[in-house]
Amino acid sequence: TKLNRANLPSLKGVAVPNYRASDLKPGILHFGLGNFHRAHQAVYLDALFNMGKSRDWGIIGTGVRPADRDMHDALKPQDWLTTVVEQEASVSRARVTGAMLGMIPPEDRAAIVRQLADPAIRIVSITVTEGGYFIDPATGQFNPEFEEIAVDGRNPDDPRTVFGLIALGLRKRRAAGTRPFTVMSCDNIPHNGVVARNAVAGVARLWDRGLADWIAATAAFPNGMVDRITPATTDRERKLCAQDFGIEDNWPVYCEEFIQWVLEDNFCNGRPELEAAGVQFVPDVTPFEFMKIRILNGGHAAIAYPASLLDVHFVHDAMNHPLVGAFFAKIEREEIMPTVPPVPGVVLDDYYHLIHRRFSNPKIGDTIPRLAFDGSNRQPKFIVPVARDRLKAGGSIDSLAFESALWCRHCFGKTETGKDITAGDPIWPRLTELAAKAKSDPLAWLSMEDVYGDVGQSAIFRKAFARSLTDIWSKGTAQALADFVGA
Ligand code: NAD
Repeated sequence: TKLNRANLPSLKGVAVPNYRASDLKPGILHFGLGNFHRAHQAVYLDALFNMGKSRDWGIIGTGVRPADRDMHDALKPQDWLTTVVEQEASVSRARVTGAMLGMIPPEDRAAIVRQLADPAIRIVSITVTEGGYFIDPATGQFNPEFEEIAVDGRNPDDPRTVFGLIALGLRKRRAAGTRPFTVMSCDNIPHNGVVARNAVAGVARLWDRGLADWIAATAAFPNGMVDRITPATTDRERKLCAQDFGIEDNWPVYCEEFIQWVLEDNFCNGRPELEAAGVQFVPDVTPFEFMKIRILNGGHAAIAYPASLLDVHFVHDAMNHPLVGAFFAKIEREEIMPTVPPVPGVVLDDYYHLIHRRFSNPKIGDTIPRLAFDGSNRQPKFIVPVARDRLKAGGSIDSLAFESALWCRHCFGKTETGKDITAGDPIWPRLTELAAKAKSDPLAWLSMEDVYGDVGQSAIFRKAFARSLTDIWSKGTAQALADFVGA
């Protein structure tokens, strides 16, 4: 059965919305309508709408990249519905979610700005990846010198970045005397609210200091921790969706059963009753962020590169691989977990076991190439700050340096058996060039100040990194890992 509103009654064994699109009113504009948003925020809102709550918070999607046009074209014929398949180790459940009311394609920037200026929109949410925030990795702060931001600075009436568009929307609201909206980042970035605020106010400052001050003073930017492992959709998932649930969905989302959202209750223009759907509101999300970003995302980084070099394709297979699994346990226990502060209501050891179980779930089909992607944006958020904290505290950084060396070896572009590694980074040519150079001159890699900042200057880190990379090249990844973990 083709997925659309008219066909919902004929779907069997699948949960469907108990509300019509006409029961909803738009309240949220979302940038970056990828898989994660549809597995996470849209699922929470769908649950609320099914309870008859908060129905004035329907979602309108948008984006600034060509990929968002593809999503628009895939979802439009199916009335913006999405099949979400939630997978436990033993069962998979499908539900069709209907929280989305429409999507503005990326090229229609005038319509995006109109929507941003519309008083009905009271939250603008974002999932545009770690690389979408124009952050200077050395300082962790918004950097207005990025070319795309500079271009927005010169074009105050036709900005092209997410933050330029949001700033223009806020400028129009200010001029019209409309209350600002809340900007809610749902990306895996420490202090994502603060980072988003600096980006929006940062673009505004290039145009008009008064506007920047008004934004900082009146708009809200809650920090949040988001979690649900959501792989990319391939033809495998499209086929499974038709085969197992009888639904022909152009872009279904397959994810794990686990879902978590911890959020600061900092909204300037109302919000949906998210707590009724299980969102945890806390005064300070910082310890939750540390826990999730370091243990989960840092853990993903730790398995991605050894598994890639050893030709392991699926994440659950990496976890079962004796060397990769042992490296994961070692780096987590000895170097990552000690940097995580106490988290209210959580025993860190239980959290580690939870992560281990989730990564090992064979049903999710999450892939190593997905985790290995975008290292130049992820290492500075998930690994380098851990090393920085360890160095400050005088703790060991050997596993973190080994992880960095594995990333470097991965960027050489060939696995241990000589297979090509697909380019998966905005600065891939630079990475491959440096990785080749680092084969004989390891420290060339750490010269990437935009990735490593001061950590790349630390004598202790440099020594451990050089030793690790030399080992990996001379013994091969498997033997170097075996020696390192003591297997
Ligand atoms: P995806 O590839 O399905 O979608 C990415 C979206 O971001 C697309 O809409 C794309 O157009 C947009 N985008 C990418 N780079 C951009 C840029 N530089 N500027 C503006 N827009 C950009 O990915 P996804 O699985 O939806 O993940 C998106 C983000 O969600 C992650 O990077 C992460 O921050 C967060 N997240 C994902 C997961 C997960 O398991 N997938 C879990 C937690 C958090």
